[in-house]
Amino acid sequence: MAGEPQDDCLFCKIVAGTIPATIVRETETTVAFRDINPQAPTHVLVIPKAHYRDAATLAAGAPELAADVLRETRAVADEEKLESYRIVFNTGSGAGQTVWHTHAHVLGGRGLEWPPG
Ligand code: IMP
Repeated sequence: MAGEPQDDCLFCKIVAGTIPATIVRETETTVAFRDINPQAPTHVLVIPKAHYRDAATLAAGAPELAADVLRETRAVADEEKLESYRIVFNTGSGAGQTVWHTHAHVLGGRGLEWPPG
């Protein structure tokens, strides 16, 4: 069920502390941690603690929580002293989503090209 922890979800395990992560920020509703395979000098993932499979499901089911995630992307960018940065929600396998627990990628610290691949 949307919002409930899933036993087979990697990021639910990071929220629960049963899988280690380099956590950079935590709030009552969100966790931000460094991506294990960074694509830029700063590559942090911001997730809601509650399980929603993708950004669309989160936005529809818990818009206030979606706003918490967005607010935290800004906090991460500030802490990392990023003047420019990119926020990415890969949504669906065709767009590159591989972990089915909503996460915002915060990428910065180098020039970022557009359009993305
Ligand atoms: P997606 O491809 O948009 O779903 O992004 C998933 C991201 O999770 C990828 O950038 C992975 O490198 C990252 N990732 C996978 N496992 C871990 C982990 O255990 N800790 C931190 N990041 C992870």
